[in-house]
Amino acid sequence: MRVRRNFVSNDFYRKGREENRVCLPWRFFVPFTVKQKNMLMSDKISHWIRPQIRALSAYHVPPSADLIKLDAMENPYHWPETMVEEWLAVLRGVSLNRYPDPSPARLKTSLGKAMGVPAGQSVLLGNGSDELIQMIALALAQPGRVILTPEPGFVMYKMIATMTGMDYVGVPLAADFSLDLEAMLAAIEQCQPAVVFLAYPNNPTGNLFDRLAINAVIKASPGLVVVDEAYHAFADDSFMDELGKHDNLLVMRTVSKMGLAGLRLGLLAGPDEWLTEFDKTRLPYNINVLTQVSAEFALTHRAVLDQQTRQICTDREKLMTDLQALDGIMAFPSRANFILFRVPQAAAVFAALKEQGVLIKNMGAEQGPLAQCLRVTVGTAEENGAFLRALVSAIK
Ligand code: PMP
Repeated sequence: MRVRRNFVSNDFYRKGREENRVCLPWRFFVPFTVKQKNMLMSDKISHWIRPQIRALSAYHVPPSADLIKLDAMENPYHWPETMVEEWLAVLRGVSLNRYPDPSPARLKTSLGKAMGVPAGQSVLLGNGSDELIQMIALALAQPGRVILTPEPGFVMYKMIATMTGMDYVGVPLAADFSLDLEAMLAAIEQCQPAVVFLAYPNNPTGNLFDRLAINAVIKASPGLVVVDEAYHAFADDSFMDELGKHDNLLVMRTVSKMGLAGLRLGLLAGPDEWLTEFDKTRLPYNINVLTQVSAEFALTHRAVLDQQTRQICTDREKLMTDLQALDGIMAFPSRANFILFRVPQAAAVFAALKEQGVLIKNMGAEQGPLAQCLRVTVGTAEENGAFLRALVSAIK
């Protein structure tokens, strides 16, 4: 296409640059030069920040000081003191003045092994799996391209679609939170999504989708399918073994729920051909040096992490039984380290719990599938006990 630009001469642009004036193609020139000097900052912000970003709310993390923190699916346990001492000795040897290894091969190998990545499949590391979702979207984004995922689901899929200028399509789950395969297949046929994200187990509902249904989604998808196994440690089921059987399947994991949320480290496993492309959207040195050595150290003490995970699973079952025994509470089965439950007045119950020092998550829905739902993370036995006592008093 020929650009009509000679309404203003090239000399005019050159002179403008020398005088440090803003020079723009003729189409933009008149409105901006007239307005720019007198624009209020708020007008500049509404002019320059994309409307999609202005419409977003930043990811909100509520203050939790002095509260029992059961809102973010963290592992509540610390390490034994001897292990902490050993770790600190390792940290002493770290060179903070140097950039980290940009692509830590040893960590990739040990994490890949720990996560059961099959031979022949590659590994990409992210600053949390959030960053991996973003890398995938950055590589796929084009106007009209779609991220598709069942809803209710993990909020970052939608946020990242918006940030990267992709379209977002949420397909409602069935009433029991299972995958509505017919609706999924119809949406896939209609939208031809660049990527489908399936959280397995799903957040915030906690259930595992049917394996056959997921396989059907993988087969029907023209683009990628990412099975997000953030809660794998508590689920005892995985699609890792399916890698290599489908050329459009990727599996994502994180160390966050294994007791290492502070490290910010996620893993994407799949065919090298895809990962090589996503790697191009990765910022250099995305895994900091403290994370690299701490993760390697933690993996050599895997038994401690696994024991904590087993404890959380045992406590989840007890918490579920206790919740189900309460009148007026509907708790949904969970294969993750949290439980979604419905109460008659969610906002009031949430506030009453906080008043008593317990922070959980209010799903904030008046209507729809998450209406009057709250989500509690499984904590220590003492924390779960404190939560239940506060809940009993809140619903009285
Ligand atoms: N996927 C799902 C389904 C999640 O619930 C979360 C975090 N809550 C993540 C991914 C991101 O985990 P992280 O960035 O801590 O690795």
